[in-house]
Amino acid sequence: MVNLVVFARAAVGRSMSSTRPLLTSNLNGNKFTSRNESTGFNFEPSEESKSFIELSSKFTRDEIIPKAAYYDKTGEYPWDIIKKAHSLGLMNFFVPTKYGGPGLSLTDSLLIGEEISYGCTGISTVLGSNALAGAPILLYGSEELKQKYLGWIASEPVMGAYGVTEPGTGSDVSGLKTKAVKNEDGDWIINGQKMWITNGGTAKWFFVLTRTNPDPKAKTSEAFTGFVVDRDTPGVTPGRKEWNMGQRCSDTRGIIFENVKVPKQNMVGPEGKGFLVAMSAFDFTRPAVAAMGVGLARRCLDEASKYALERKAFGQPIANYQAIQFKLADMMIGVETAKLAYLKAAWLHDNGKRNTLMASIAKCYSGDIANRSATEAVQVFGGAGFNAEYPVEKLMRDAKILQIYEGTGEIQRMVIAREHITELAKKGM
Ligand SMILES: Cc1cc2nc3c(=O)[nH]c(=O)nc-3n(C[C@H](O)[C@H](O)[C@H](O)COP(=O)(O)OP(=O)(O)OC[C@H]3O[C@@H](n4cnc5c(N)ncnc54)[C@H](O)[C@@H]3O)c2cc1C
Repeated sequence: MVNLVVFARAAVGRSMSSTRPLLTSNLNGNKFTSRNESTGFNFEPSEESKSFIELSSKFTRDEIIPKAAYYDKTGEYPWDIIKKAHSLGLMNFFVPTKYGGPGLSLTDSLLIGEEISYGCTGISTVLGSNALAGAPILLYGSEELKQKYLGWIASEPVMGAYGVTEPGTGSDVSGLKTKAVKNEDGDWIINGQKMWITNGGTAKWFFVLTRTNPDPKAKTSEAFTGFVVDRDTPGVTPGRKEWNMGQRCSDTRGIIFENVKVPKQNMVGPEGKGFLVAMSAFDFTRPAVAAMGVGLARRCLDEASKYALERKAFGQPIANYQAIQFKLADMMIGVETAKLAYLKAAWLHDNGKRNTLMASIAKCYSGDIANRSATEAVQVFGGAGFNAEYPVEKLMRDAKILQIYEGTGEIQRMVIAREHITELAKKGM
């Protein structure tokens, strides 16, 4: 099968090794150059980005939209879509070409993610979940870990998982209890339990955050350590698949770790620095959740608009009524502004700038926009909106998790306020 990413690059005359940030390539190449240079802004995707959008949109139309309802109803894991997406280069965008991945900019990854999420955010969560599992390895793992685990997901349609949350703690990561103790050989023994782990039953390996300093007074920044744990290690037991409100084809489970022996080479980053290692993934993945929210909100807008033009009440299409038009307008405002937020978060990342603030703004805002759009789409559909035979009921169920996983809306607001106040303090205010 043709790898779409390679194909798109060939079509615009770019080689695999020449990945440049989207905006930089535009500044150098297109007809708006002089205007861009004078303002420093550019809202025109590069030719390459446009071809990624087109190809992923076609994949969504052909492969995802027709099957989304089936996977929602059955909760089956969408292996056939994973295999196809993998063979077309539509997964693992974050894996550098050096390890066999597409090595896309975050901007391009999110533009593709938005298209796929337009089709189904459950399937999009599945296809994108390796980024959360693999980000700690990419950012802090040894060369051997990168070769082995990033190379593995790039070469085969296999899944990883990110294991941080526990039954007793989610938002307050510093409260986690899973512990790792070093044995006489310098290897580690892990005991504990994780909860709500995406790909819990399908992953071949897990990034696992553990407490390695038993002193309860130890600083969070020094008390935890991350490891990669192979699924087939004795003592790793995934629980039953959870039946969630939405995104039902995504596999969410608890996992028990009982005397699991992990070689010292599988430590991700330095001993004690696991909190930083685990949290750093979010600068990368929260903008991806924001792009998912935009894809879902766009779908709500399209479905609600089509229905409003067809459905008649009091002798005319409901789209003629201002109350309905305002709902569509508000959805459109949300789609456009949430997109700007995720693009800025991605642009900062791609240009080597710290994006923690924008990643949280984009994730928080887009999660809210997706939920508001879905609620309003259901309202535009009236009684049909509440019925599972129509598309918007699923959109409303799928949207909710965007305000919860990868840090709840409340936690994003805490990050935003902290970043803001720290900035003020730096300015001496
Ligand atoms: C479908 C799904 C998939 C998931 N995938 C993964 C995964 O792959 N890996 C993983 O590690 N985790 C995963 N999670 C876990 C997810 O990240 C957590 O559920 C989330 O971070 C919230 O933690 P919690 O559920 O423990 O809620 P809690 O932390 O108990 O929070 C409960 C409520 O209190 C609020 N709250 C907490 N603290 C504060 C505060 N200081 N101020 C104000 N409000 C506060 C929260 O915002 C929330 O509204 C997943 C969860 C789900 C449901």
